[in-house]
Amino acid sequence: MNPIIETKALTHIYSQGTPFERVALDAVDFSVNPGEFMGIIGHTGSGKSTLIQHLNGLLKPTSGQVMFDGKDIWGDKQFTRQVRFKVGLVFQYPEYQLFEETVFKDISFGPKNMKLEEDEIRRRVLEAADFVELPESVLEMSPFELSGGQKRRVAIAGVIAMEPDIIVLDEPTAMLDPQGRREVVDTVYSLCRAKGMTVVYITHHMDECIDADRLIIMSNGRVMADGKPESIFANEELLRREGLEQPETARLLQDLRAAGLTLKGEPLNVEDCAELIAQTLQSERSQR
Ligand code: ADP
Ligand code: MG
Repeated sequence: MNPIIETKALTHIYSQGTPFERVALDAVDFSVNPGEFMGIIGHTGSGKSTLIQHLNGLLKPTSGQVMFDGKDIWGDKQFTRQVRFKVGLVFQYPEYQLFEETVFKDISFGPKNMKLEEDEIRRRVLEAADFVELPESVLEMSPFELSGGQKRRVAIAGVIAMEPDIIVLDEPTAMLDPQGRREVVDTVYSLCRAKGMTVVYITHHMDECIDADRLIIMSNGRVMADGKPESIFANEELLRREGLEQPETARLLQDLRAAGLTLKGEPLNVEDCAELIAQTLQSERSQR
């Protein structure tokens, strides 16, 4: 399969040639396949936000390339502009970008910019709001009246309404309470699993990316690891070195092993984990 988006030796240097020069990305090769849920983790300052801002042309590479469907996004102006609509970006703390009087107007901001017909804008806003499970009654409210989780879902709906091929989210669950986090995570996974959208998802909550198709760890402007969540989270040495925690499920299995339970396998998903523990306890009991 050909990647939908790919970076080749992507390097980004902020304030180049000044005393504040900072190499934020150092020859990054990164690719996402169509329909994939790609998680990005890594310590603060590792380059995650800088990387994803290149995916829709918001930042320009200092050197290297960003390809969309095999074509350099900086190849010609028209394509650069098209890519802005094909790759939808949900910024960190997107609620700071909600500024219209009503939720409806906020979600329609992107589609309006695309110069679509009124009817089409309305259809898209309603569909997007429905998808992120915002009740219709919320649409005429001010975005400022909403809960944290709802505000984030409004921001996500605004991007979905542009009907991009990929949605890229920068720590959309940061600073949310557990309820809000769950709402946002469920929305993002169903975008991929039910709508077939390609998702690139940055988080510092390991539990949120155990169901990702692939995961990369960024460190010091480089991709330090790239693989399935099971193999990344099984590598304790790597996690320790990168200052990252294990998902809660992995920690639980580890504690149970330390307490003397023989568990076979490394499931990360909560349901699979519960099943493994139940089966193990049952077979131990029957052996007694
Ligand atoms: P992350 O999202 O993983 O926390 P960032 O991409 O924000 O990492 O930052 C990577 C590095 O680039 C950090 O050292 C950060 O201080 C630096 N940086 C980020 N944005 C800017 C900027 N606008 N100007 C200068 N340096 C920046
Ligand atoms: Mg960041």
